[in-house]
Amino acid sequence: MSIKELDKQYIAGTYNRFPVEIVSGKGSLVYDDEGKEYIDMTSGIGVTSFGIADDEWKAAAIEQINMVQHMSNLYYTQPCAELAKLLCDRSGMKKVFFANSGAEANEGAIKAARKYAAEKKGEDCYTIVTLNNSFHGRTITTLSATGQDRYHELYKPLTEGFCYAEPNDIFELIALISKTKVAAVMIECIQGEGGVVTLDKDYVKELRELTAQKDILLIVDEVQTGNGRTGELYSYMNYGIVPDIVTTAKGLAGGLPIGAVLLGEKVQDVFGVGDHGSTFGGNPVCCAAALSVINRIDSKLLEEVKYKSQYIISELENAEGVEGISGMGLMLGIKTVKPAAEIVKICLENGVLCLTAKDKIRLLPALNIDEEHLKKAVAIIKGACK
Ligand code: PLP
Repeated sequence: MSIKELDKQYIAGTYNRFPVEIVSGKGSLVYDDEGKEYIDMTSGIGVTSFGIADDEWKAAAIEQINMVQHMSNLYYTQPCAELAKLLCDRSGMKKVFFANSGAEANEGAIKAARKYAAEKKGEDCYTIVTLNNSFHGRTITTLSATGQDRYHELYKPLTEGFCYAEPNDIFELIALISKTKVAAVMIECIQGEGGVVTLDKDYVKELRELTAQKDILLIVDEVQTGNGRTGELYSYMNYGIVPDIVTTAKGLAGGLPIGAVLLGEKVQDVFGVGDHGSTFGGNPVCCAAALSVINRIDSKLLEEVKYKSQYIISELENAEGVEGISGMGLMLGIKTVKPAAEIVKICLENGVLCLTAKDKIRLLPALNIDEEHLKKAVAIIKGACK
């Protein structure tokens, strides 16, 4: 049986795969089983921050594999402790809980927020407000947090205690808070799966002030926007605010599974022994890889992300067949006249991998994509939009 037939017969049918089998790659280039080359504008949906098989990233992971690949959380390991310090130093948060994915990081944040509110305001203060059109994961609780009905159908009963507000409408939120006991508000500064929709700066600032006044926690889901993606280390840094809890995953370890809940000052000690845990959380190989990723996301790299973003925007915003561009840094959504899926198919045929998000083309290339490949990919995308 071919790989495609094996996959069809034995893998649960949750993914609508393109008819391409990727076998190898280097940087922003990947190759299929027939040797065809593609420029990767997806980075595994924002995961391979420094591209495929990056030498520095590989060396960090392999060095740790040669020492210890896993220990339980009953013992100390160096990469885990050092990564936690680095994340706190760079984000302004105070403590870290390590998980394995974005959904798990959000589960951890929801638990932390509920425990904080239960202890401070009573056990009936558990509601978490999220935004319409948000996406927070696919576990029952994180899909309950997700403000899109289509993810809820057929999975009821959902986890109780979530309600949804309209993005950028501070008055709706004020009204909601006045009639419900709210533990936390959880947002994505740029709704990725929701179609690369950027929250307004004033709204995010007002939301921060409002939640701070009422001792309601502000959780920012940086699973997709984090780790340099938007031209800052975390997207909230573009808004001049400091959240109470930050969750991140995807690009953090550059292609190895990791999730992290960054706990701010108020909640730094909310978790005590036995309150939360994860067998693989803080895995030393994933943490060593993440240390190398975060150490490389310096001001020079972030400037490059912004420069490349500007290049893409300037090339595409007035191009034929393009209606508009949203997003920040190297997380961009392109609204096109033709259906996005049709453009992605043309790009694939012409050797460029792109994503969609709702009705847009979504671009999430590696942060270090080189100019030659970026220019070539943008030219092909431009041609496909016509
Ligand atoms: N939160 C956001 C904003 C996401 O974009 C995603 C995944 O796309 C998740 C959470 C879930 O992450 P994971 O698939 O690692 O569980």
